[in-house]
Amino acid sequence: MIEGNKSDTTNFNSPFRGTGGSIVEKSSFVSTRNSCKLCAPLGASLVFKGIEGCVPLIHGSQGCATYIRRYMISHYKEPVDIASSNFSEESTIYGGSRNFITGINNIIKQYKPKVIGIASTCLSETIGEDIPGHIHNYKEENVNIGAKLPTFIHASTPSYCGSHAEGFHNTVLATVKSLAEFENVRNKITILPGMVSPADIRYLKELLEDFDIKYTLFPDYSETLDNEYTAEYQLIPTGGTTVHDIQRIGNSKATIEFGSSFNKSFSRLKDKSSVQTAGEWLESSFYIKNYQMPLPIGINTTDKFIEVLKTVSGVELPESHRKERGRLVDAYIDAHKYVFGKKALLYGEEDFVTAMADWCKEIGVEPFFIKGADFETLKEKADEFQPDFLLGNSKGYYIARERKIPLVRVGFPIHDRFGANRMHHIGYRGTQELFDRVVNALIEYKQENSPIGYKYL
Ligand code: SF4
Repeated sequence: MIEGNKSDTTNFNSPFRGTGGSIVEKSSFVSTRNSCKLCAPLGASLVFKGIEGCVPLIHGSQGCATYIRRYMISHYKEPVDIASSNFSEESTIYGGSRNFITGINNIIKQYKPKVIGIASTCLSETIGEDIPGHIHNYKEENVNIGAKLPTFIHASTPSYCGSHAEGFHNTVLATVKSLAEFENVRNKITILPGMVSPADIRYLKELLEDFDIKYTLFPDYSETLDNEYTAEYQLIPTGGTTVHDIQRIGNSKATIEFGSSFNKSFSRLKDKSSVQTAGEWLESSFYIKNYQMPLPIGINTTDKFIEVLKTVSGVELPESHRKERGRLVDAYIDAHKYVFGKKALLYGEEDFVTAMADWCKEIGVEPFFIKGADFETLKEKADEFQPDFLLGNSKGYYIARERKIPLVRVGFPIHDRFGANRMHHIGYRGTQELFDRVVNALIEYKQENSPIGYKYL
């Protein structure tokens, strides 16, 4: 496994990405070529889609919102309305307050949303747009409408400071900071699942209900981005965490937060004082115990997650889930001969890649990933590492195609397959699905490349 790459500058702490404080040496930097990372307001929009009655507004150029819509629609195969304040040359020079007001008025008129989630862009951040000020002024000017105004949430998401994954985490933090209220009644668990699939979110809800745990899960886009067919078009799809539930997050007795890539200890920023996850903020501000853990992919990490659920609920693992675990162990035994000793090239969101790497080791696969690399670097390193398969999103397909090896599609975005929103990744169930997909990809590859057209394993 290679960690760190001296010639790479796609790391988000690099001066080339805008925040300064790089600790990554560079010896032969040319430019980022085919970046593995997507844009920060995309992550913000995903979080906003997980709030009930919310319409995301991208405060910046129209192209940013179009790009985000295109990516999300292609992955989730659902209508994704994302508004834009549509900056022009004039707003770039004189500021975007007028566009902001027009945008908010149009959203309220057309959608009647409960919430408007506002994410900034590279442009609006660069010219120093004061979005909290715009929101304040808008409320002042519409004070007569009072309670009828939607709730406003603002996340600062300049893409030159971070990826879609950071945009996601920063927006979860911004939402919790802006809405959560401190209460002394401690009766719920808060789950902050990170950037998982709608199917993963539904699985978590089922698991928590089987443990008989009262919970708030945020963000919940399990319906908004994977909804049932309705005869009438829904301007705002049903589902999502309610504002009321997010406010009540302050009364949680514990938080379970998946992913640790953006916490203080992981961050490579020199000044770590501003680095905090939502779970860490709830712990430091509201004294809510935060169980921060990797995404539960694999038996080891899922066991750890289950131990926490047992601790907070006082309930043993329900029988149906115990059996899922048992079937997974059985599958590991049955298929170890197909996966053991194989090599996997991993890429994608940080939390996902680190969890996948641990899982690969659990099943006897050698993982390979490069922190902060672009796809061209991965392609070059693949020549040295000689992977047997790729584990990542659709954007790495050209590497798999060139090498004529399988790509097992996981994470975001998946543009060239159907059903990404129904893919499981986490828990015993998700691991089982992943394991089956990896094993079958390897078997299929062997079969396709065999001189004998065999039909039995
Ligand atoms: S990277 Fe910046 S300019 Fe490009 S779409 Fe994202 S916010 Fe807009």
